[in-house]
Amino acid sequence: MNSEFFDMIKNANEVTLKNHGDEVTLERAIFLSWWCDKGDCAFCYMSTQKDKIKDPKKARRNVSNIYAEAEMCRRLGWNIEFLSGGYKSFTTSEIKEIASTIKNITGDGVWLNTGITDELSEYGSEITGITGAVEVANPEIHNNVCPSKSLEDIGHMLDTAGDLGFKKAITIILGLGETLDDVDYVIDYIKEHDIDRVIFYSLNSHKETIYADKSQPASLYYAEVVSRIRLEFPEIEIICGTWIDNLANIGILILSGANGITKFPLFKMFATKYGVRVEEEVKWAGRRLKGTFSDKSRLGEPKSEVSPDLDKFIKRYIKESLKNKY
Ligand code: SF4
Repeated sequence: MNSEFFDMIKNANEVTLKNHGDEVTLERAIFLSWWCDKGDCAFCYMSTQKDKIKDPKKARRNVSNIYAEAEMCRRLGWNIEFLSGGYKSFTTSEIKEIASTIKNITGDGVWLNTGITDELSEYGSEITGITGAVEVANPEIHNNVCPSKSLEDIGHMLDTAGDLGFKKAITIILGLGETLDDVDYVIDYIKEHDIDRVIFYSLNSHKETIYADKSQPASLYYAEVVSRIRLEFPEIEIICGTWIDNLANIGILILSGANGITKFPLFKMFATKYGVRVEEEVKWAGRRLKGTFSDKSRLGEPKSEVSPDLDKFIKRYIKESLKNKY
């Protein structure tokens, strides 16, 4: 490791503070369904479930539960990263309805990560932005790992999203076989499609996939990728996913340029030693956390402020948040 690496992180940190201030967000992806009609991305948990789900409609979450989750996010100050669901689990008009209701609950427009679609023009002000699941930072590997998600179609969808006035995001999972040489490809992709937000994840190897025995990428490798993107794009929003077994990544990823952190089981970790550890990581990176990962008073009353239909789900989220599973 040479001093250039530390200089790069130091510069990325300064650029981030200058352009984004010192707030770090906790991001929560809200899942709509456990069904995905494509179901063939080599790393994906959903790909292991496709054959087990007999009736895709039953894999859809109850919408009241989704709204209760949004209400809890508002109470705790967590951002909704996006609505996410496998292919063909909800129709466009159903997604629009869910997004509108969530916008009424949180006050913020919603990002979508619900697959490649040519129906974007049906959406309106309830949607802030569209996410393209690029997933792999190397186009050749992408075609093997995500055979049904053509990069061309994703790029076309993002360009259409831009024409319609939506913001644009991409997701990239590190650890799928890419190398640091592929950062240039990501940089070009961001430029070509005028991307506003990049969401990085690190591989979480699921049993029954070809990655089952593969390790997660090293923290300093992850940091180098993020800091190179930050230095190239000072104003872009960067969100970094890290798993509960990798909380020590958080500090260095924030210094490298992350504006938000994601991919935790938020309710399960809330107010436990792990939730507090996330807050400590943010603090030691010299940042302020938006919202809380430990303040039980923010959980609020076990009744919904939105609709009595959500009461039982709100109650369940609060119970889960107070039950220290660790
Ligand atoms: S399209 Fe998305 S949900 Fe479906 S298998 Fe691929 S990564 Fe998983």
